[in-house]
Amino acid sequence: VSLTISPIKDDADEIIGISKIARDITERKQEEKRKNDFVAMVSHELKTPLTSILLYVQLLVKKSTNVEDPSFLGMSTKIEAYVKRMVSMITDYLGLSRIEEGKIDIQKTHFALKPLADEVMEEARLISSKHTLEIVGCETVEVYADREKMRQILINLVGNALKYSPSGGPVTLGWESTSDKLRIYVKDEGLGITPADQTKLFQRFYRVDDEERQNIAGFGIGLYLVSELLRLHDSTIEVDSKLGEGSVFYFHLDGHRSIGGDLRSDSGKP
Ligand code: ADP
Repeated sequence: VSLTISPIKDDADEIIGISKIARDITERKQEEKRKNDFVAMVSHELKTPLTSILLYVQLLVKKSTNVEDPSFLGMSTKIEAYVKRMVSMITDYLGLSRIEEGKIDIQKTHFALKPLADEVMEEARLISSKHTLEIVGCETVEVYADREKMRQILINLVGNALKYSPSGGPVTLGWESTSDKLRIYVKDEGLGITPADQTKLFQRFYRVDDEERQNIAGFGIGLYLVSELLRLHDSTIEVDSKLGEGSVFYFHLDGHRSIGGDLRSDSGKP
């Protein structure tokens, strides 16, 4: 039961009573659980066949290099990118259930950020040819984080930047030092988000519902997952955005350093 208690005041602002409203939220909770169980079951069921499809498509990509018609290689590479995206969405969802059950540990190491950014943008390039992708950040920066989780975070943010810039445009993945932290950001010039929606974006299953986004598919878990993965790194995801102009999603990490150098000796500037 959810209980809301509020004072009742007269015209002179004097408290003359208390109102109590009790709502039975059992139904809502059960509905949410059913939704969770359903998505978890579907994700689980889809993962095995999709992983097999991915293996075969990867074989196909290899073999396509011997086919005379170059469009074979182009098409199979595109299928590979889309299947990879589906596998990673499902991995995200299944990973999320594990985080919520407290079953996920993070393994932090120092690693160079630029090669990871290259991997992420390479995957993005295969998905979209109408966006201009750019990496802006010092190549010698090493972050201290869980590399696989960081990859998931960046893939989600860059994937959203592409998805919510339906007419194309620039997407930047960048980083810079801000005093003792490293600020990592993903910037787009896409649909943007209203201030009211910005406060709800990171909730599970929340999706912005407007005309322009009606044909853009999704579960509404990407940003929730990003915020959970960042929480494991003692960080938070933040957003600056204006409807119709674009968005910047960013977060800060501790403990970065320059390759082979001292902690935080790098300016982070390109
Ligand atoms: P999904 O994309 O599956 O809906 P997310 O949790 O990743 O789920 O995003 C939640 C909502 O936030 C999306 O429905 C979308 O409207 C909005 N959003 C996320 N990233 C962007 C972005 N880069 N630009 C504009 N809107 C975004």
